Amino acid sequence: MPSDKFASQAGLFDEQQLAQHTPMMQQYLRIKSEHPNILLFYRMGDFYELFYDDAKRAAQLLDISLTARGKSGGDPIPMAGVPYHAVEGYLAKLVKLGQSVAICEQVGDPATSKGPVERKVARIVTPGTITDEALLDDRRDNLLAAIWQGKEGFGYATLELSSGRFSLSELKNEEALLAELQRTQPAELLYPEGMAALHLIEQRRGLRRRPEWEFDLQTAITQLNQQFGTRELSGFGVDKAELGLCAAGCVIQYVKDTQRAALPHIRAIRLETQSDTVQMDAATRRNLELTQNLAGSLDNTLASVLDKTSTAMGSRLLQRWLHRPLTDIQTLTRRQDSIAALLDADLQELRDYLKQVGDIERVLGRLALRSARPRDFARLRQAFGQLPAIRSFLATLDCPPLHSLAGEINEFPELLDLLERAIIDNPPVLIRDGGVIAPGYHAELDELRALSKGATDYLALLEEREKQRTDIPTLKVGFNKVHGYYIEVSRGYADLVPAEYVRRQTLKNNERYIIPELKEYEDKVLTSQGRALALEKQLYDALFDTLLPQLFELQLSGAALAELDVLCNLADCAQLYDYHRPAFSQEPGIQYDRGRHAVVEQVLTEPFIANPLALGHKRRMLIITGPNMGGKSTYMRQTALIALMACIGSYVPAENAKIGPIDRIFTRIGASDDLASGRSTFMVEMTETANILNNATANSLVLMDEIGRGTSTYDGLSLAWATACYLAEQLNAFTLFATHYFEMTQLAESMESLANVHLDAVEHEEGISFMHAVQEGAADRSYGLQVAMLAGVPRPVIQAARQKLFELEQSDTRPPTSAPGPVPSQLDFIQQDDPLRKALKSLNPDELTPRQALEALYSLKRLGQD
Ligand code: ADP
Repeated sequence: MPSDKFASQAGLFDEQQLAQHTPMMQQYLRIKSEHPNILLFYRMGDFYELFYDDAKRAAQLLDISLTARGKSGGDPIPMAGVPYHAVEGYLAKLVKLGQSVAICEQVGDPATSKGPVERKVARIVTPGTITDEALLDDRRDNLLAAIWQGKEGFGYATLELSSGRFSLSELKNEEALLAELQRTQPAELLYPEGMAALHLIEQRRGLRRRPEWEFDLQTAITQLNQQFGTRELSGFGVDKAELGLCAAGCVIQYVKDTQRAALPHIRAIRLETQSDTVQMDAATRRNLELTQNLAGSLDNTLASVLDKTSTAMGSRLLQRWLHRPLTDIQTLTRRQDSIAALLDADLQELRDYLKQVGDIERVLGRLALRSARPRDFARLRQAFGQLPAIRSFLATLDCPPLHSLAGEINEFPELLDLLERAIIDNPPVLIRDGGVIAPGYHAELDELRALSKGATDYLALLEEREKQRTDIPTLKVGFNKVHGYYIEVSRGYADLVPAEYVRRQTLKNNERYIIPELKEYEDKVLTSQGRALALEKQLYDALFDTLLPQLFELQLSGAALAELDVLCNLADCAQLYDYHRPAFSQEPGIQYDRGRHAVVEQVLTEPFIANPLALGHKRRMLIITGPNMGGKSTYMRQTALIALMACIGSYVPAENAKIGPIDRIFTRIGASDDLASGRSTFMVEMTETANILNNATANSLVLMDEIGRGTSTYDGLSLAWATACYLAEQLNAFTLFATHYFEMTQLAESMESLANVHLDAVEHEEGISFMHAVQEGAADRSYGLQVAMLAGVPRPVIQAARQKLFELEQSDTRPPTSAPGPVPSQLDFIQQDDPLRKALKSLNPDELTPRQALEALYSLKRLGQD
C-alpha cells in the first residue's frame, strides 16, 4: 500500500514510523488502515485481538479487560481480546450497540510462513448486514437503510439482506421521513456527508456517514442494473424515483463492500408508494403501540397479542403488515376469505406443518450468500418434507385465494431427495471438522473415511497372510499413536521373522516390526483423513451449486409459506379471542357494535366492557367526556386498532364492523416530553396537532386526547376549541376528541356533524366506580377529586380541594362558555375607556427622543397608579 494513503487513513503513523514496529504490528497497522472507522478483530491463534484505540473501545463496550502487548515502536500497545470460539456472542453484543467489526483471519500456513502469517479481512459484520443466525433477532426484520436528501424531499431505501427484500420510497417532508424511520426501524442507516437534515437522525444507533459520491444517481443506476442483470430499471417502476435511487445506490454499494460475496437473492427493487397504504405518522405508530410499547419493549403491544405465528418469518411478516395497513379492498377481502376458510379447517394440523417449515426465509438468504451452515440444509430438508402435505391440505379447502397461494408453493422433490441422501440426520454446527455428508452419498468419501478410520479388511487380511507365510501363530498387526502400524511377534518366534521385517520397537516379550507394504498403508490412512475432509467440503460446496439455480422458486415458496403462516395465525386469533369479520364499504365512516380494545382486554382481570361506535357522513366527530380513568383513551385507541386490524385483512374485536375508506390514521395521545430533542410536552403536543391539521382529510381517522393540557386553562380551551372546529368544519375528518373541558360539549349545539358521548362513573360511599360504558350525551361532571382520592392523595388535601372547588364554583371564574364563536385572541385586562389605554394609544415610539421616552414612561407609571 502506498505510504501516503496509509498515513492519511491510519492517521497515526507514517511509513518511517511504521518501520519501527514489529513485523506483525506492521501487518496489523496496514490492515487497520483499510478499516479506520470500525473495530478490527485480528486473529492470533485462538484469539481475536484488538489493539490501540480499538482495544480501549472494545474493552469498554464488551466489558473485557484491557492489557498491553509488549512494546512496538517504543510504546506499550493497548490490547484486548476475545476467544475465537466465543466470538459470535461478542459480535452480537457489538452489533446491538450499532458497531461494525472487520474480522481478519489467518489465511497463510503458519508452518511455512516467513514472518507473520498472511492475514486478510474475511468479512465485515455490520448491524444492518448480518445474516448469521446467532447475531439476528429471529422475530425482527433487520434492515440496512440509506437516506438521501434532495431539494424536493428525501429518498429512502431499505434492504433486508437475509431475504433480499429491497425497496425505495420518496418522502416529501421531514414528517414523512420520520414516519418511515419509525416504521422500518433500520439497524444501520447510511447518510451522506453534509446532509442538512441531520437533526432527524442524530439520535439513532447504527449511523454511518458515507461519501456523497456513493449517492450519485448515475452510479446508482449502473450498480443496480448490474446487480439485477437488467439494462434499465423501468421494469421495476423505479426509474423516475431519482431521490430514492440515490439512496438505493448507496445501499447496494455498501452491501457489496461489506459482504464480499455474490448477492444472487437481491434480484429486484420495489417502489413503496404511500397511496396504497393507510398512512400513519411517527407519533401515531408509537402511540398505537403496534410492535413496540412506549417504553420500547414488546409487552402489551398489538403484535404481542396477535402474534401466535408458527414460524419466525411469519412473525416478521405480521409485523410488517401491522405497520403497512392497506387500502386495497381486493387484497384485504382475499385475506379475509382465506381466514374464513381456515377457520373451518383443522388449524392445528396446518400449524404443525408450518412449525416444521421453520424460518426458511433466512435459511435461503444464507444459501444465497453461500454462508448456510449444515443445520440450514437439514432445516431445508425438513421444510421440503412438509410441502406436499401443506399443498394437499390447502387443496381440500374451498377457497380460491388459498389455492393460488398453494400454487406459489413448489414441492422440490429432487432437492428433498438430494438433501436426504447428502446430509446426515443431525449434522454438527460447522462443516469445518467434517461429519456432515451422509454415508452412502459419495463412494470415494466413504472409502476415504473407512481408510482414515483404519476400518478396512486390509489389516485382517495382511495379518492372516503373514501368519501363514511366516508360520508364526502369535503374529498380530497393531497400531499405536507414537509408532503407527506394526507387526508384533512374541520373542519366542524371533528366529522365524523374515529378513525384510524392519524392527520398530522392542518390548519385554515382543518385538514390533514394519514392512514397506504396511508403511504405505499407514501413509494412505494418514493422508486420507485430510483428503476426506477436503472432499467433504467440496461436496458441501457442490450442494450450493445444485440448490442455487432454484433460489428464485425457493424464495417464492418461502414468501407464500410466510403469508400462509400469518393467515393461519389470524384465523387462530379470530377463534381464540372471538374476533369477527369486518365489512368494507365505499361509504365513508366507521361503525361497529360491541367493540373491544384488543390489548387492554387481554391484560384486564375484570371483564372488558364492549362499546359501540358510529361515525358516518352525518356524524363525523364525537366529543368524548367523562372522568379520568373512565375509559376515554381506551375507547379511542380501540377504534384505531379495529380500523387498522381490518386494514391488514384480520378479523376484529367488534361485531358488525363496517369500515369505509380510510387514508390516514392520526393520534394525538398522551403527554410525553421529548427531552432528547429539547421539546417540552406542550411543544410536542402542538407539533403533533399542527401535523394533523395540515394533513388530515375527510377520509382520515383522527384521535385527539386531551389537547391543550400543557398550557393555561384559557389557552388550552381556546386551542382545543379551535382545533375541534377546524377538524369538523374545514377538514371533515372522522374525529374522536376526548377532552376534560366541559365547555367543548356545547359545540354540538351549533354543529350538526358533531355529537357528544361520555363515559360514566358512579359515586358511592367507598369512592367511585367506573362504568366504562359509552353513552350518548355529555358528562355532567369530571369526578377529578374522587379519582385523586382513589389514587391515594391524602384526605386533608382532598378536603381542601373540595372547599376550593366550592369557592371557585361560587365565584364562577371559569372561562366564558356561552357562545361557540371565536374565543377572543387576547383577554382584555384593561378597560376600553381607561386613561392608561388612551395615553398608550397617543404615544408614537418612533417619534420620541430617548429623553421624551423616559418622561413618557414616568407619566404612564403615574397614570397606572392613579
Ligand atoms: P381515560 O382516558 O378516560 O382516563 P383510560 O382509557 O386510560 O381512561 O382507561 C383507564 C383504565 O380503565 C384502563 O387502563 C382499563 O384498565 C380500564 N378500562 C378502560 N376501558 C375499559 C372498558 N371498556 N372495559 C373495562 N375496563 C376498561
